[in-house]
Amino acid sequence: MGDEHLRAPSGSRVASAAQFDVAVIGGGVNGTGVARDLALRNLRVVLFERNDLAFGASGNSSGMIHGGVRYLETNPSVTKTSCRDSGYIQQIAPFLLFRIPFLMPIAEGKKGRVLLELIDAYFRAYDDYQPLKHSELHTRLDSSELLQLEPGLVGRNAGGVTFDEWGVDGVRLCVLNAIDAEEHGTKLYTHTTVESVSKDEDAYVVSGRDLIDGRRVSARARVVVNATGAWSPITASLGGLPASRVRVRPGKGIHVVYDRRLSNYGVLAEAIDGRQIFAMPWQNVTVVGTTDDDYFGDLDDVVSTSEEVRYLVQGVARVFPAIRSARAIGTYAGVRPTLYEYGKLEDSLSREHAIVDHEADGSPNVFSMIGGKLASFRLFAQEMADRIARDLAPSSVCSTHTTPLPGGDSVPDAIALAERHELTPVMAKRIVFRHGSRAAAVLANLGRDPKAREVVCPCEPVLGAEVQHVIRKEHARTVDDVARRTRLGLGACGGMLCAERCGQIVARELGLAPSVGREQAHRFLARQAKMRAPALGPEQAVQEALALAQRRAVGP
Ligand SMILES: Cc1cc2nc3c(=O)[nH]c(=O)nc-3n(C[C@H](O)[C@H](O)[C@H](O)COP(=O)(O)OP(=O)(O)OC[C@H]3O[C@@H](n4cnc5c(N)ncnc54)[C@H](O)[C@@H]3O)c2cc1C
Repeated sequence: MGDEHLRAPSGSRVASAAQFDVAVIGGGVNGTGVARDLALRNLRVVLFERNDLAFGASGNSSGMIHGGVRYLETNPSVTKTSCRDSGYIQQIAPFLLFRIPFLMPIAEGKKGRVLLELIDAYFRAYDDYQPLKHSELHTRLDSSELLQLEPGLVGRNAGGVTFDEWGVDGVRLCVLNAIDAEEHGTKLYTHTTVESVSKDEDAYVVSGRDLIDGRRVSARARVVVNATGAWSPITASLGGLPASRVRVRPGKGIHVVYDRRLSNYGVLAEAIDGRQIFAMPWQNVTVVGTTDDDYFGDLDDVVSTSEEVRYLVQGVARVFPAIRSARAIGTYAGVRPTLYEYGKLEDSLSREHAIVDHEADGSPNVFSMIGGKLASFRLFAQEMADRIARDLAPSSVCSTHTTPLPGGDSVPDAIALAERHELTPVMAKRIVFRHGSRAAAVLANLGRDPKAREVVCPCEPVLGAEVQHVIRKEHARTVDDVARRTRLGLGACGGMLCAERCGQIVARELGLAPSVGREQAHRFLARQAKMRAPALGPEQAVQEALALAQRRAVGP
């Protein structure tokens, strides 16, 4: 990166900085994906993540490895690559994907019949891509079939179509990529923000600071990859690179979460401005999403607003009114690192990805990865890794589409696991969903440590054994990190039943003072309440604030 700008911060241990082939900045799906690809090619990789793995867009997406049906019209190549890569992701992590069949009702009215014909034809074109992602072909429905499948639908409909997509836990996808990279030699620094990238004779020096304990770390690397999503222009400027070369158009999207699965199918609806939104059964909750608005705020503190919630609920309620009486338990929000274009509406922006080679900026072997989708992350990572390997490992080939992610070699029988370990079937199923064949390793502590058998989070449910596992094996360092990896505290109780207990376990496992675990728990509860507030009415919000204050005053 432009040498004159690049100085290592005082106090860092540059002289003793470890030597790597590649330094990856950013622990979202693109950063962890490229780290894994490079590590599988035997390159020495270091990855820095400023917050936690999947903290950004990757952990706050709609959680769909979808084929991008709406891009078929404007960007058919995005649809094709998403579908093909979706097939690969199913191959390497079969335990982590779940089917989400969708319904698209078509309102009657003057043009209803014609629209149904057109949409039916559109989905026939989409059907061509379905074998790539092992999905069912679409079905055309008349209005009574529509109601039979989803009795909660209202309005006079000409008919509708079904189509098939796949859900995924985006956080687990990032964590598993990171863990596989680590198991192939990658050094992971989470909660470590990169503060500068400088250049000495033959390498770049990437210097970071651990935001939890203040420790400074440095790494020397021949290649640097900026995979910091919506933060990418800021990260580029840390190394003196022109931010204008890494242009993204940050697009904020929020989701509202309901306490249970409210429908059999994902239901598409139209928002007041004609944009497409949805309500879908996702894992054991319902998720309503999503907005897409230009974002100019703090990327490390993205919160939903009640206006955004109302926009979504209004649109969904027109076709599925039960949403109004359902119990919202939270919201979440993320920022898309969409490729920059001026003058277009947010949701018509391209979802393609791009690699920026900073050689033209005087920084050879520095790259920025921008744009893309969860659904095509593996391909994007492969393109980046192929480019790097051209110089560093010319005979290597990509194997991320054939090598299973951790736990992806087989899917254990959850019922047998439940019987063997005397767990409820739901518990065992959820552990298998998150860990695949490594579920046995997660449960290995059950016989040895009575605390491992404790149900820490009854809503999800999450066992003590899993909390221990994600702290010991998956770099969870806070209550928030445990929640991200296990969904502890993200259910109906909002963490009131489990956050403090989780804080005790985190403190004990990491050798911290109990007060640190307690403080972490309270921070988690406060954040959850802040994210839930926009989805609640004013009276519920007051109740929430009181409950939280009481919890803080009384302590565990
Ligand atoms: C609301 C929403 C819905 C979406 N739905 C879908 C979907 O259903 N399907 C789909 O395929 N795609 C979806 N996407 C798109 C997809 O989530 C993103 O394209 C993808 O996750 C981007 O990944 P990333 O790794 O580039 O960025 P991120 O996941 O944002 O990762 C960037 C990381 O960089 C870290 N970082 C920043 N600065 C520094 C620094 N100085 N040092 C170290 N680390 C740093 C951040 O903490 C962050 O974790 C959605 C996105 C949003 C926001």
